[in-house]
Amino acid sequence: MSWCEESTSRIDLYLDDELRGDELVAFEHHIKNCSSRRVMAFLV
Ligand SMILES: [Zn+2]
Repeated sequence: MSWCEESTSRIDLYLDDELRGDELVAFEHHIKNCSSRRVMAFLV
């Protein structure tokens, strides 16, 4: 699984406020720089 796919799979955890520490930082950093359509749809 790519990092991108791994991040999109964590969207639900993020919305449930279940990401912590490094996971949360890495997720937020990724979605700000990601061009994935799934992530874009999530942000819109
Ligand atoms: Zn991505």
